[in-house]
Amino acid sequence: MRAVRLVHVGKPLEEADTPIPEIGSSEVLIRVAAAGICHSDAHYRAGISKIDRLPLTLGHEVAGGVEEVGSDVTHLSVGDRVCVHYLVCCGSCEFCVRGLEQFCRSGQMIGKHRDGGYAEFIKVPGANAFPLPDEIPFEIGAIMMCSSATALHVLKKARFEAGESIAIFGFGGLGFSALQLAHAYDCGDVYVVEINPAKLALAVSMGAIAIDARAADPVEQIKEATARTGVDVALELIGSAKTMRQAVLCLAPLGRAALVGLTAESMSIFPYTELINKEAEIIGVSDHLAAELPVLLEFARNGKLRFPPETLRVIDLDAAQINAALDALQDSIDHVRTVIVPNNDK
Ligand SMILES: [Zn+2]
Ligand SMILES: [Zn+2]
Repeated sequence: MRAVRLVHVGKPLEEADTPIPEIGSSEVLIRVAAAGICHSDAHYRAGISKIDRLPLTLGHEVAGGVEEVGSDVTHLSVGDRVCVHYLVCCGSCEFCVRGLEQFCRSGQMIGKHRDGGYAEFIKVPGANAFPLPDEIPFEIGAIMMCSSATALHVLKKARFEAGESIAIFGFGGLGFSALQLAHAYDCGDVYVVEINPAKLALAVSMGAIAIDARAADPVEQIKEATARTGVDVALELIGSAKTMRQAVLCLAPLGRAALVGLTAESMSIFPYTELINKEAEIIGVSDHLAAELPVLLEFARNGKLRFPPETLRVIDLDAAQINAALDALQDSIDHVRTVIVPNNDK
């Protein structure tokens, strides 16, 4: 089969002819119909995130049709449409048995620790393949498996409830899904904090209140807009100590700030006046859980989570096109996601 693989860190991905994977009794073979290209793939290629096994087929946002089913897999049949949960876990360690597989002692990420979806076929454990409803195109099913899934997990971790107000710091891929999911949960007012005018305009067109962080202190603006109360939930999706602190400061009493963006900077808080007084909480959030995917897929099936056609760009399973897409991600500021569709016109 054809695959596009990382062979040398820091070099362009290369096209390879590799054997179609042979599956074990607990696995399924999927004919890849769509594989999303993610920012973290650019980091793997550049060596910013370490890859310990080369060559490696990248791609952790995958959807396709079931081609072969292992004898122990009972919930899938040949021909089923599926999307793939990218965390492969052991199922038996103390974290897995509690349904917290993102902390699995021997967890592996598809497209990082084992071959991913930049290929014609991929094998995954049956437990990682989730039925994809007919209403959801493969391209959408694929890209939802990363940022949308994490956006849902953030709202869960923040214990977000109907009617609550929310501030979203950063309107990239995560924020785009988080805003729609907040609406799906019947949120109160949503404030989107951004410095990019096009992103602010898009957020407003999707029902949010724009907070232009270039105009004035976003915390002041949110306080002003909420009769000095603040918001119930704040999501930090940027990864900067400054916006993390702002996410905490804009909270109402009993507010929760969920931090998702990655940074090595340290953040300072005055515990008494900024946290204890209002019984506010700061919550760290990492990845998402397999158990959340059916909920996410249902939101997409009933149209509450949407990706308009202009937000998707389709390319072939072709090394030059994939490398160019990864190059473009370095300084991407829009919401266009690139999806590989193998055998697109062949
Ligand atoms: Zn991703
Ligand atoms: Zn485990």
